Amino acid sequence: MISTEQRGFFGTVLAVIVGIVSLMASGTCTQAAEAVRILIIDGQNNHDWRKTTPVLKSCLDATGRFKVDVVTTPGNGKPAEDWNAFRPKFTDYDAVMSNYNGQSWPEPVQKSLEEFVSGGGGLVIVHAANNAFPEWAEYNKMIGLGWRGADYGARVTTDNDGKLVLKEKNQGPGAGHGSQHDFAVIVRDRQNPVMAGIPAEWMHVKDELYHGQRGPAANMNILATAFSAKSTGGTDEHEPMVWWIPYGKGKVLTTVFGHGDYSMKCVGFQTILARGTEWVATDKVTLPVPAMFPTATAKLSIDDVK
Ligand code: ZN
Repeated sequence: MISTEQRGFFGTVLAVIVGIVSLMASGTCTQAAEAVRILIIDGQNNHDWRKTTPVLKSCLDATGRFKVDVVTTPGNGKPAEDWNAFRPKFTDYDAVMSNYNGQSWPEPVQKSLEEFVSGGGGLVIVHAANNAFPEWAEYNKMIGLGWRGADYGARVTTDNDGKLVLKEKNQGPGAGHGSQHDFAVIVRDRQNPVMAGIPAEWMHVKDELYHGQRGPAANMNILATAFSAKSTGGTDEHEPMVWWIPYGKGKVLTTVFGHGDYSMKCVGFQTILARGTEWVATDKVTLPVPAMFPTATAKLSIDDVK
C-alpha cells in the first residue's frame, strides 16, 4: 500500500515523463535548442572594451540560449581599406549588440544596420555605445537618448510615480554623471516581458549613473530608472537607465549601465542584458529571473554567486 504522499510523488514523475515524451513528439525540444544568433560589435571605445566584451559574451553564453559572435572594427586611424573590409552581415543574426564608441562607420554599414533593425532585427546598446554617432540621424532615432550636449535635443526623466517628464533642449543639464557608486534601480514597467518577475527595486553594483542624456526621444518606453542624488554629483531626478524603442519592425533596447567589468557583473544587469537581448531578438522572453537576485538593500555580483 502506498501513501497519498507517495502517490503524489509517483504521479509527478509520471507527469514529467509524459511531458518529456510529448515534447519530443511535438518537436518542441528541437525548437527550444535552436540558438538565438547574436553579433557583438566592439573595436573602439573610451572604455576598456577588451575587458568588457568577454563579460557581455559570457553573460549570454551562460544562458545556453544564444550563439554569440564578436566582430571587431578597425582601430582608430586605420586606413580606408581596412574600413572597406568591415562589412558585417547583420542579417545572419537575430540581434546585434553594440559595445562600440568610436569613429563613424562607413555609410553602407550604417544603411545595413538601419535596414536590419527596421526589417525586424534586434539591437542592444550598452553604456558608452550611446555616446557614439551624434551625426547619424537614424542611429539617434534608434537610441532615443545619447551622450550629447544640452543643445542637442530633448531630455527625459520621470517623476516619483514613473510618469515621463520631457524637457526641451537647453532646459536642464546635458550629458554627464557623478562619482561612481552603488545605486538603487526602480523598475518602471513590470508588464514588459524583460522586466516581468524582476523586483520593483534593487541595488546595482558600483557604476556611473548617467544623467542628462539627449536626443530625439521619440517612442521611448522607459523600463527602469535610478535616482541621481545631488550628494554623488547628480541631478536630483529619476534618470532613465533602461529603455526600448520600436524602429520599423525591430526593437532597440538601451541600457546605460555597464561602465566597468565590475558593473557588468551585477546579477541585475546580467539578467536584463540576457532577457533584453532575447526579447529584441525573438519577441519572447524564456530566460528566467535568477532565484538569487539583488534586493532593495543588497547588491549582488556574479562573483558572489559562484
Ligand atoms: Zn563609463
